[in-house]
Amino acid sequence: MRFADIILPLSLPKLLTYAVPDEWAETIAAGERVEVTVGHKAYTGLVREVHTRAPEGFSVKMIAALLDSRPVVNEKQLQYWEQLADYYLCNVGDVMKAALPAGLRSAFTPKTEICVRLHPSITSEAQLLDCLNGLRRAAKQEELLLRYLSFADGVCFDRPHETPRSLLLREPSSATALAACIKKKILEQVTHEIGRLDHSAVATKELPALSAAQQQAFGQITALFDARKVALLHGVTASGKTEIYINLIAEQLRRGKQALYLLPEIALTAQIVERLQHVFGAAVGVYHSRYNDSERAEIYRAVPSPYRVILGVRSALFLPFDNLGLIIIDEEHEATYKQFDPAPRYHARDAAVMLARWHAADVLLGTATPSVESYYNALAGKYGLVTLTERYHRAPPPKTEVVNLLLARRKQCTDGLFSQHLLEAIGDALVRREQVILFQNRRGYAPYLQCADCGHIPHCTQCSVSLTCHRQGPAMRCHYCGASQPVPAICPKCHSPKMETKGFGTEKAEDLLQIHFPHARIARLDLDAVRAKDAYARILGDFAQRRIDVLVGTQMITKGLDFDNVSLVGILDADGLLNFPDFRAHERSFQLMTQVSGRAGRQQRQGRVIIQTSQSGSPVIQLVRRNDYREMFESQLVERRAFRFPPYTRLVSITLKHASEDVLRLASRQLRARLAPVMGERLTGPFQPMVSFIQGRHLLCFWLRLERSSKAADIKAFLKKQIDVVGKQKGLSGVEIIVDVDPM
Ligand code: ADP
Ligand code: ZN
Ligand code: ZN
Repeated sequence: MRFADIILPLSLPKLLTYAVPDEWAETIAAGERVEVTVGHKAYTGLVREVHTRAPEGFSVKMIAALLDSRPVVNEKQLQYWEQLADYYLCNVGDVMKAALPAGLRSAFTPKTEICVRLHPSITSEAQLLDCLNGLRRAAKQEELLLRYLSFADGVCFDRPHETPRSLLLREPSSATALAACIKKKILEQVTHEIGRLDHSAVATKELPALSAAQQQAFGQITALFDARKVALLHGVTASGKTEIYINLIAEQLRRGKQALYLLPEIALTAQIVERLQHVFGAAVGVYHSRYNDSERAEIYRAVPSPYRVILGVRSALFLPFDNLGLIIIDEEHEATYKQFDPAPRYHARDAAVMLARWHAADVLLGTATPSVESYYNALAGKYGLVTLTERYHRAPPPKTEVVNLLLARRKQCTDGLFSQHLLEAIGDALVRREQVILFQNRRGYAPYLQCADCGHIPHCTQCSVSLTCHRQGPAMRCHYCGASQPVPAICPKCHSPKMETKGFGTEKAEDLLQIHFPHARIARLDLDAVRAKDAYARILGDFAQRRIDVLVGTQMITKGLDFDNVSLVGILDADGLLNFPDFRAHERSFQLMTQVSGRAGRQQRQGRVIIQTSQSGSPVIQLVRRNDYREMFESQLVERRAFRFPPYTRLVSITLKHASEDVLRLASRQLRARLAPVMGERLTGPFQPMVSFIQGRHLLCFWLRLERSSKAADIKAFLKKQIDVVGKQKGLSGVEIIVDVDPM
């Protein structure tokens, strides 16, 4: 008897074992999908291992069906899944859920179409006429054949035209006529899988010729690859990193290898895919979560052929590569590379480095503002560092001015959001028909509403945050749980009619700006503005075509956009970035401000950046102004070392959630009691996170700081065990315990 261990798309700590029916005993293999039942429910699972070790202690169930004749997941992928589950402290089933497109998790039947064509035995005009003559007495069949010929529009006998059966059969009765023609060997039917994907892209461009500086960087990168090192390309915005990537990919294809190009966000794929298709044509495939289940399943099946270059977001790491030569992680510093929820809570950059090892593939991390971790790895010699300091068109870096909002307010040179200085600069740009980008880190109209009489601020009932005011719809919304309600006309507490909006969101910035510049064409780019399908591409398209003068937006406008008529970038409220209580706040605000500044001034012209802040003395502001990455990095390292944060330690966060604060406190006391004796100083907590009540549940957190040198695997195994024990205790089973390795 043979048995198979099955991975199920469930968060189970162990694989389940099933018996293999005799008829499949010889053929079943790891990586094939099977149907099995758990309880009384049917699931599609994946064979991990076939063996003869009979499980003891329970009667083993049979596999109900074998769904594949060859594996859909290869051995490298399976081992990679296990590695991720180990590293990120989750179950292989969690990884399977993230890795295998849902279209493959259920039985995926490809979409097919039945077509009708001339029978291959008919090879000449004369034969065809004979057939037609023979059908004189069968009017319906004759009509059908003539109808086929009318679709065929001239007959080619080598490759007869194929007409979809549904088009040919106008009325049900003609099905009988078709059956007769097929029997007489005049017509035949063929079934095709129909792709939902377009494979028609044709390469139209030569490889870009690299400038001297780019050529040098390219040489350094390939030398690092030859030395089997991960390369970190620190290149200023518009230095031509993308052109270097394209050259590196071409090199891989020449060697018959596959390449994976990761981007932090779906929105960015649209611009890059064109650049790639110009050079690599139909070999380029795109993979992200905006595709529906069956489309994703189809792309999955198109790797590695015809898709040898994959452009995608983090989930593209799970495609069935069999000969990967290169992984590029563009904008490697982006926090969106980290999956927050659900497990596996993996960081695509680090997961890419792990994947590359299975294929002995090269890894290139590219960015204008490296993460502290990656830069540290580069300086420590673990990665290699390559630097590009000049823009391709040799435009000087933008000139950065800082407006002190405290002074502006005192001199009444501001309407609360726009300083006089910034307004003048916007006016100047508009007069010269140049475009402007304004960055405001909060969406909505105003961050909160407040009663002018009693000071009451409406909060979400399910979360400990204030409700954000929006211009439209049920206008007060919780940005944590999505709950919404109308704006109250009177204060719910003291019934005063003086409810006032406080602070500024992107919507209010847009409104105010329109008052200052009634003739300017202003648009907004934030999460609310891009909810409609294709809205993102449309807004960016309009901006690129200069149908928009000023674009106001959140983080969304900071990423990878390349417009050559933007002469001014304004950061409306840098304070909001600086005051975030997070050990990465300085790093992040430096990255954000530098990235958004990079949008100013393309080609030969110098751009202008204006930062508004009430903390003009803040070191981060000064560093952005001087464009001094190195200094930012050094100062951050000092802090990280002092407070034992990454890159000096590995951080693991543990979050407990429950509706009852008492239960939560009990659970966290128990967890602490179990962990503290072993972890000692490495454990901090429980403490309340900044937002400590979300969607009706209270939160408590712990942090573990593991030494870089420590045997992380042992500690993690211990941790996992303790968490399981606490979670199973009486009265605590409802407590959700979330472990996040390398939290962002
Ligand atoms: P980055 O990725 O570093 O921001 P890009 O690769 O987008 O920079 O390059 C910025 C601009 O300069 C793009 O419009 C790009 O087409 C152009 N460019 C860069 N390098 C070259 C090159 N070697 N040949 C032609 N155009 C280039
Ligand atoms: Zn009030
Ligand atoms: Zn809420």
